[in-house]
Amino acid sequence: MSPTAPIDLLREAVDLARAAIVADGGQPGDHLEVVVEDDNSAAHYFGADLPGYHGWRWCAVVAIAGDDAPVTVSEVVLLPGEGALLAPAWVPWSERIAAGDLGPGDQLATEPDDPRLVPNQVDNGDEEALGDLDLGLGRQRVLSPEGRDDAAQRWYDGEYGPSSAMAQSAKHKCEACGFYLPLAGALRFDFGVCANEFSADGHVVSAEYGCGAHSDVVAKPPTSAPQFDPYDDGVLEVFAAAD
Ligand code: SF4
Repeated sequence: MSPTAPIDLLREAVDLARAAIVADGGQPGDHLEVVVEDDNSAAHYFGADLPGYHGWRWCAVVAIAGDDAPVTVSEVVLLPGEGALLAPAWVPWSERIAAGDLGPGDQLATEPDDPRLVPNQVDNGDEEALGDLDLGLGRQRVLSPEGRDDAAQRWYDGEYGPSSAMAQSAKHKCEACGFYLPLAGALRFDFGVCANEFSADGHVVSAEYGCGAHSDVVAKPPTSAPQFDPYDDGVLEVFAAAD
């Protein structure tokens, strides 16, 4: 009778694999399958009835070095099977953070290669803004064209842009308002800051935004006629009607 081939010894090592899982603290269920990895190793899979691990399986990898070598256990591991309950994919904080998340005392570092910024002494196309800087002594980085375009687009599409409900219902635009303080630099023709405490005070507004507190809005004259004074029913005394 010829000796059993190593590959068959690996396939038959179900009890060895099960014992290894038990020794590792697991409680393997039914033997599900054996997967031959190569000429010298195979993986035995068992059911795993663990709370919170629906669909996971115990796996014991067995190996053999040659024809006359014994079968040994390489590793024991719990692996997800088809349809197993898995944790959501990890998302780095830099991709999870959203506008408005920054709180007092929080530190939000920008990456050295943040595309929104360029070194101060790189020409970012904003000649007027660069002209205000002490090159080498002022800010280390300034907005890149990409960072500037992104901000402009956000502001234009946002609450103080021309498509907002407020702007759509306003007759006058910010660009002609006395409360409008234009920005400096490349965005000076398109955006400014509102300085009207009753409107968008302190916010960057699009030149095409507008509101009912525009400096050109004039008060309407009273609509009542002098010969018919307003009727004030708050001064009436009410008496019960006599029978
Ligand atoms: S008051 Fe209204 S129109 Fe004037 S700058 Fe402010 S938001 Fe614009």
